[in-house]
Formats: sequence, structure tokens, C-alpha cells
Amino acid sequence: MKKHLLLIAMIGVLCWLPYLTATETAPAERLPIGVIARFDDHGAGLPFDKAVQSGVSVMQLKVPIAANRTEENVKKILDALKKHNVQLVCVVSGFAGESYRTIPIVKETVGLAPEKTRKERFEEFKGVSDFAKRLGAPSVQFHLGAVPHDTKSKEYWDVVQIVRDSCDYVFANGQSLNLETGQETGPALLQFIHDVNRLNLHINFDPANMILYGCGEPIEALQLVGPFVRSTHCKDARWAEPELQGKEWGQEVLFGTGDVNAPLFLETLRNFGYNGPLIIERENREHPEAQYNDVLKTIEYLKQLRKKIFE
Ligand code: MG
Repeated sequence: MKKHLLLIAMIGVLCWLPYLTATETAPAERLPIGVIARFDDHGAGLPFDKAVQSGVSVMQLKVPIAANRTEENVKKILDALKKHNVQLVCVVSGFAGESYRTIPIVKETVGLAPEKTRKERFEEFKGVSDFAKRLGAPSVQFHLGAVPHDTKSKEYWDVVQIVRDSCDYVFANGQSLNLETGQETGPALLQFIHDVNRLNLHINFDPANMILYGCGEPIEALQLVGPFVRSTHCKDARWAEPELQGKEWGQEVLFGTGDVNAPLFLETLRNFGYNGPLIIERENREHPEAQYNDVLKTIEYLKQLRKKIFE
């Protein structure tokens, strides 16, 4: 009888051994550092070939134009990702006719929000999701554009509906939809997500955009919408002068040198138990060498910060 009990106890210990001895997943895997890349000339990320060689482990890819979404290019992308051991976590959508020249022009031209282009852009967006599926990407992402402020208006609920339709479409492709922050305040974004009411709707939190667009203090917004954040852009910026905020751009700067407060940004993410990617976004594609060097610097900076805050 005693032998029998001893045997049961030993089997029990053996079964639990892997759990008792397992250490937590290393931060390098929990919070992979990545970059935004562009395969063709469209978008602000690093050129794809540079991005895969930069030493990151994950990537968001700006969607190539439709003519470049060929089988040959899909193979080229997948082969390069495999060769450099980079995981594609997201395809970033964009639409013909968008312009980021000024804040008022953004409101008129960007995303699915503008009514006059919404229908055709939704068709365009389906093509982006289908392309992301061919690459095995688990999510797609876009700037929705300026959501109408009156939450009781038909215009507001029309935008809610197009995002529901977008979520449902990408869901059928096995994807989630990430909204990039910046063009709404934290409370407005939270309300919007509740109104859309789709489980595969998440946030890609870009703290610099909150500053660039003058949409409120990013850390406060993050504290509000944190549970919906599944990816982040590590980008920094300085506020425009107070009287110009929301009318003229702030200035984008190297991550860790602007008004975001990068250490507090990561601490706030940690407090939500954030495990997702830390995607470096550096604009300045007019100076490709400086852009690439800034990305390399930010990789090292993020490694140190991640170690300090998450270990
Ligand atoms: Mg961004």
C-alpha cells in the first residue's frame, strides 16, 4: 500500500516538474523589437532589404501597391523573412489619395473615415487583408482617419459600421484589426472601440502621434486604452507650440529624445502586462542613411530599456 502511494506521489511530481522548473519566457521573446518596412516605394518605413538585415526579430510591412502583390514578390518576402529569422506580425494598410501634408488635409484624405472615398477604399482594404493572409500575417492595421465627434450622429455610426465590416472581413482571414492611434483622444478612441464591439479590434499605440496631432498626453491615453493595445510604435515627438497644437504638426524626433517620456511609456505598458512587439518607427525617409542609423540606435536603446523595465 505504501509503495503504491509513493508511486502515485512520484508520478505526480514528475508530471508537475516541467511547471515547477520552468522560468518565465525571456523578455526578448515576450517583447520582440521590430521595425516598419516597405517593400516598394510606398510608405514611410525602412526599405524591406534593409529592415530584414537590421537585427530585429519582428516586422510590420507597409502593403505594396496592388501591382506589386505578385506571387513572385510574396515568395521573395517570405524567403527573406525566413532567411533572417524575422516574423511578420502585421501588414499596414494605406489608401490611394491619402496625404499627410497638414493636419486639415489628413482629416480630409486619410483612412476609411472620409465618406466620399469610403466605399472604394473598403474594397481596397479587403485586398490588403487578402495579401496579408498570403503572407501569414496575423493582423492588419490602418489609420482610420477623423472619426466624427458627435457620437449620436449618423456620420459617426456610419464609421462604426465600416470598422465592424472591416473587422468581420479580416476575421474571416484569421486576422485582427489594429487601429493606429493619433487622430483621436484617448476617451474618444475608447468610446469608439466599445461602440464597434468586435473582439478582433485592437490598438496599435503610437505615442508620438498623440503629440504630433495634438490629441492629448499619450501616457494618460495609454492608461485609458491599455487593455486594447496589442502592438506599439516606438516613435517620439515634440509638441507644437500650445496655440498651434491640433492645427500644425509637432516635430518627430529620435525615440527617447522627445516629449513621450520613453521609460514611462514602457513602464505603463508593463503595468498592463503588455507582451507585444515594440515596433520602431522613424520617419525621415528623405535621409535614408540617417533613418537607418537612427533605427539601429533605437534597437540598442530599446534593448537596454526593456531589460531595465521588464526584467
Ligand atoms: Mg505610427
